[in-house]
Parts: sequence; C-alpha cells; structure tokens
Amino acid sequence: MTLAHICQISGPVLRAKTADAFQLREAVRVGDEALLGEVIRIEQDEITVQVYEDTTGLRPGVKIEGSGRPLSIRLGPGLLGNIFDGLLRPLDPDSRYVRPGLHRAPARTFAYTALLRTGQHAAGGTAFGQVGSAGGRIQLCLLPPGVSGEIVTIAADGNYAEDAPLCRVRGENGMLVEVAMSHDWPVRVPRPAKARVFSDQPLFTGQRIIDALFPVVRGGKAALPGGFGTGKTVLLESLAKWCDADIIVYLGCGERGNEMAGVLDEFPKLQDPRSGRPLMERMVVIANTSNMPVAAREASIYSAATVAEYFRDQGLHVALMADSTSRWAEALREVSGRFGELPGEGGYPAYLASRIADFYERAAQVETLGGARGSVTIMGSISPPSGDFSEPVTSHTKRYVRSFWALDAKRAQARFYPAINPLQSYTEGVQQFVAWWARHGNDEWETLRRKFLTLLEEQARLERMARIIGKDALPLKQQLVLLCAELVNEAFLRQSAYSENDRYASPARQSAMMKLLGRFLVLAEQAVNRGLLPERLAQLAVFRRLQRMGEEIGEQPQRFSELAVQLEQEFNDLLLTAKSDSNP
Ligand code: ADP
Ligand code: MG
Repeated sequence: MTLAHICQISGPVLRAKTADAFQLREAVRVGDEALLGEVIRIEQDEITVQVYEDTTGLRPGVKIEGSGRPLSIRLGPGLLGNIFDGLLRPLDPDSRYVRPGLHRAPARTFAYTALLRTGQHAAGGTAFGQVGSAGGRIQLCLLPPGVSGEIVTIAADGNYAEDAPLCRVRGENGMLVEVAMSHDWPVRVPRPAKARVFSDQPLFTGQRIIDALFPVVRGGKAALPGGFGTGKTVLLESLAKWCDADIIVYLGCGERGNEMAGVLDEFPKLQDPRSGRPLMERMVVIANTSNMPVAAREASIYSAATVAEYFRDQGLHVALMADSTSRWAEALREVSGRFGELPGEGGYPAYLASRIADFYERAAQVETLGGARGSVTIMGSISPPSGDFSEPVTSHTKRYVRSFWALDAKRAQARFYPAINPLQSYTEGVQQFVAWWARHGNDEWETLRRKFLTLLEEQARLERMARIIGKDALPLKQQLVLLCAELVNEAFLRQSAYSENDRYASPARQSAMMKLLGRFLVLAEQAVNRGLLPERLAQLAVFRRLQRMGEEIGEQPQRFSELAVQLEQEFNDLLLTAKSDSNP
C-alpha cells in the first residue's frame, strides 16, 4: 500500500511527501476518518491531493493511504430514486451531509434475471442480466466496457446485492473477470459508445417557447443563462418534470440549500405526470449545495455526465439538467487557485473553456456498445454575475451549445415567464425538426415559427420608434404588428409553471395554438388592408379568448376547433360591418 504524509493544507487541497509511487487520479483515504481524496498532481516526492470532504482538523503529518485505483463511482440499479453528493455518496436525508469517510452508497439488493448462458461470448456493453426496480422499471446489468469474452459462470435468477459477483467472463488473454450488477467507472472518463448517430427528434419539453421556437435535439446541448431570479431553476425543474426523457439526472450544483428546495424537498413527493408513479423512480439527483465541500462540487458534473451515460448505455433517453454550471466553474476556480495555478480571464484557470467543452461534448445520441439507441441531452444553467453575458462562462458555453435560451431580467420583472428572450435566444439547425413537427400535426411549423420570430423582431424595432414618435403616429400596419406580437407573447410564449392547465403543452396543443395564431395573423392583415383599425381587432371576443387559450383550454384539442370556428365567424362579421360602414 502506498503512503504519504501531509506537509501543507490549503482548504480542500493537500500537499504530501511520499516515497511511494502514487498514480495520477488515484483515490486516497486521508487521516483516521478516511476522508475521500484524489491525487491530482505528482512531482518527485510530493503529491497534491484534492479532498472531497471537510478538511478542518487535518494537520501536517497526518497520513494519506493510496487505494491503487482511480477515483471511481459505482454505477448500478441502486442509483434511481436517490439523492447523492458529487461523488455519488448518499446524502443524509435530514442533515443533507455525507457521513465523513463514506466512500460510496451501501449496496442494495435487487431481483435479478440472467439474460446470457454459460459458454456464450459477449462484449463490453452487452446486458448479461436485468433487474426489476421500483414501478416495474427494468434495468439492464451491463458488462462493463472493456470486459469481453466467454461467460464461464453466471448466477441463477434470484435476489442479489448490487456488488455481488454474478458472472465470470474469460477474456482473450485467459484472465477471469468477475462482474456484478453494478460496476465501478472512473469518474472523469466518458463512457464509450459504438457511434454517434443523427437525430431529427427534439427532446420534447412541453414548454412552448422551447419546443416551438428553440427546440433542443435528443442528444443535444442547451444552455440557459440568466441573472438571479430570472427563472433558471424553475425552468429546469419544469423540464425535469415534463420532458419526454426516460431518465432524469438532476445536478444541483453549488446553489444555496433554499434555492434547491424544489429538488430536494418537492421532487421526492412528486408524481410523474405520465405514469402517476413517483417521479423519483426514474430520476437520480446529485446535489452539492454551496455549504458542501467545494471539491465535490467540481467533480459533480463528471459524476452526473457519467451516470447519464450509464443509462444511455442501456438504450435509454436521458436528460441531464445542471443548475448551475457557473457555481461549478467557481469551484474549479477555487480549487485551481489553491494549487497555485495562474489565473486567466475572470480569475478562472486557462482550461475553463476546454472543461466546459468536454462537459457538453458528452451530450449525444449514440448507438450503444450493446447495439441499442440511447441519448444524453444536456441542459445547463449559467448564472452570470450581474446578468452580463459577456463573462467567461457564458461566452465559452455559447460556443459549444446549439440551443441557447437567454433568460431576461426585464421579462422576469414583468413576471413574464418563462423569461426566455426570443431575440437573444437561438437554436441551430431547426431544419432537422420540420419532419417531426409535421408528424405531430404541424406541417406549417417552420413557416409559423419564422413568422412569430419576425413579428417579435419587428416589435422590438417598432417599440423603439414608438417611444420617440408615439404609438398613434405609427402607420396602421405597424400598429397591427405591435398588436399581433403582443398576442403571440401573451397567448403562446407566456406559460406559467404553476398553472395546472398550462404548465405542460402537448405537441397537439402547441400545433393547434400555433395554427390558430397563424390564422389570426392572416385574417388581421386582411382586415387592416380593408381599412379596419387594429384596435377593432383587439376588441373582438375571440381576441380575448386567444390571449387566454393556454390557461382556459388546457389539453382539450376539440375546443381549439371551436375557437377556430369562432375566429372565422367573428372576422366574417367584422368585415361585413366594415363594408357597410364604408359604403353607406
Ligand atoms: P433563478 O434560479 O434564475 O434565480 P428561480 O427559478 O428561482 O430563479 O425563479 C425565481 C422566481 O420566479 C420563482 O420563485 C417564481 O416565483 C418565478 N418564476 C420563475 N419561472 C417561472 C415560471 N416558469 N412560471 C411561473 N413563475 C416562475
Ligand atoms: Mg436558481
């Protein structure tokens, strides 16, 4: 066993003298409490160790023991339904702390069924068995990537602990490897897949402004920057509740405990709106609040990505929410400062950009080693200091994500939620979603999306002008633009996370709403072309009904057809009276 002795302590970073050969990234135990640490630098007879627990009380001379293995997390059926810290150690439900020296969650027992027989050959990533877990969910037991060969023995069906050896595999070189239903994986190493594959399918979220204007592809990456109180956490929580992923990995990273109360207190009580079962059954929560050790926060995004990939490798679609990547970057900055690295832009280490890129790079839709399709979609919030999007974390992230949902303080102040600013937000390659929307009842999606965005852009321009010359001085057509843009905002983009009827909008409903609004735009333009004042349109009963349709109609598609009929009727009547007005 390798041994070292502490010579210097700086917060979570220790230097220690050793005569032994430690490995880089090796897990170590520090002191009598066996605090968990990781070797992050080796120089001659000195190692630098990052400790994932509170280091108060440690002093020079205290011993550090090597484990001979890289810092790893255990991936297995015991993950679902639980709340962990950044290194997948279970959080005590009351104190929200990790017991000092606890290196992993205790192994749990699951009912296992074998899927392979002795004598069969199997490669890494193949399922050799499956287990049943809460809610009848089946989880696969995978041969770890890198382990392949002949199945020499395989356990009979029955109840086993997560870490009990179930299967022995003889590799090419004749070596026997024992495999349990769970396996260890080095926390910072991405899990391999056979290939990345193209997807034309959005991760459907039920949030109109996202799905209809700025969708994120399954296996894609999105960032949501926004100042304090602009609704990042509420939006990520809504996405966790409603998006159509099989598995949710929710990373609460460095925010204060009360800002994470939704996830820590509310989620364990929530029902999955689709199945009526507890939402947590298909969820893993990783939480490192601001009062928890900073190094574990730094590691937490790697743990979260690895857990997400582990479910992806079972052929599942996974959504990973990270709130907030800024707090992670701050942890990186703090730890780097403790090593004595030279600070770069904003005090962050020079490798900030590449670490952000590496994290988002783990989002993908893949063909798994086992031949299935799975995906990891990453959505990360950013909390730029004083809402300034030019700061390093936002500007680097912007280069790597394909969907950018910019939360806007002005909208939030007006309590317009979700406060995503449609003019600062974007999604690259929207073309790829056209076919999906057509299959989901909206063959005009691209045209309507463009129309809405154009209206919103014109609105911004005209409002500037109206401030100078007064709204009434604008030509009628421009007054109409303002009216229609306001309608799109109110009727479509605004969506309260707290409204029973409106917090989720199905594809059918979003399609129906888009088409109704599209039709209104056409009729309104015709009416104004015939000399009607835009304000007359705002007085129509149907205008009011459109404004409130999200809240009032909910998921009752047939009522949208009634509204469509009313729309045509009222415009007909209006045009008739208009005609008789102008030709007495
Ligand atoms: P942030 O995480 O950006 O600091 P929060 O997500 O905590 O902000 O949101 C602050 C407050 O704004 C919430 O407590 C809630 O009252 C309101 N809010 C945010 N998003 C929504 C939403 N989608 N629907 C309704 N209210 C919202
Ligand atoms: Mg928040």
